[in-house]
Amino acid sequence: SRAKREGERVGLWDAGIAGVRSWEIALYAELRAAISRDELIVFYQPLQAAATGRIVGVEALVRWSHPTRGLLPPGAFLPMAERSALIVDVTRWVLDEALRQCAAWAARGLHVPVSVNISARMLVLDDLPSLVTGSLARHQLPPDVLTLEITESALVTQPGRAAAMLRELRSKGVKLALDDFGTGYSSMEILKALPFDEVKIDRGFVADVRGSLLDAAIVRSVLDLGHRLGLRVVGEGVEDDRTLRMMTELGCDILQGDAVSRPRPPSHLEDLLVERVAPAERPGPADGSAA
Ligand code: C2E
Ligand code: MG
Ligand code: MG
Ligand code: MG
Repeated sequence: SRAKREGERVGLWDAGIAGVRSWEIALYAELRAAISRDELIVFYQPLQAAATGRIVGVEALVRWSHPTRGLLPPGAFLPMAERSALIVDVTRWVLDEALRQCAAWAARGLHVPVSVNISARMLVLDDLPSLVTGSLARHQLPPDVLTLEITESALVTQPGRAAAMLRELRSKGVKLALDDFGTGYSSMEILKALPFDEVKIDRGFVADVRGSLLDAAIVRSVLDLGHRLGLRVVGEGVEDDRTLRMMTELGCDILQGDAVSRPRPPSHLEDLLVERVAPAERPGPADGSAA
């Protein structure tokens, strides 16, 4: 079909397999233009140390400020980008923008490490390490301000190559987080194979940790496992104060979710960061506590 040929032309990788729908191709063209027109923006969601209440970092979450459809969440365009080579451009842009923002915070005395999500497609790309180190150098930042968030499913496609690149980045001082923990396949194997610094408990388990004994048991187990492996454990999707208190009591190191702050543009995080980022926190092995 014409849509299929066009899909192949623009590099939708599975064009020949499932067939690419025409709306997807239109979206592809629009997103490609959007990147060069600076329509993408990054929101940041704070990461709070449970023990101290300090903000110890932020997660970069991409949005598309679409000229007619308004602010689009990543779910509205990333799946398409991930099926095409466009995810590389999106990731490169988000990474560089997040590090630019991190440098801007640093210039004002705010130590705000940033976490950036890395899609599976990026892990088959040989130049991920140079992309990352190039961007760090451009903004004159040390590698340990950056955490790369990887999901388990990202590691099943080409485990050997992906692992080699992640080890290379880790050896340079970039941190690694295992994202959405508990939703993948072979968590234990991946935790064993790769030098993660952090594990993020998927919000599906955190949401009902107070109401469900099953979810509470899973959260406790992940905390225990993570701590035994020397990792800091982040609870995602902490929506209310009671969940925040329970996650703290259970020993979760870092809390992320609407109870701390929703993802916001930098201009709307100003007060929170000035108030709650630890003063002159030394870069070094993050242990989730300011003590
Ligand atoms: P994620 O990396 O697991 O990010 C956390 C998601 O949970 C974010 O959704 C965040 O807004 C949401 N969240 C956090 N706290 C709460 C809460 O208390 N309640 C609720 N209901 N939701 C909460 P968002 O921003 O829509 O991002 C969704 C996913 O899209 C991310 O999941 C990540 O996998 C992907 N993503 C976002 N930005 C990027 C990016 O720049 N690059 C890549 N490759 N993926 C991205
Ligand atoms: Mg993430
Ligand atoms: Mg996550
Ligand atoms: Mg998630």
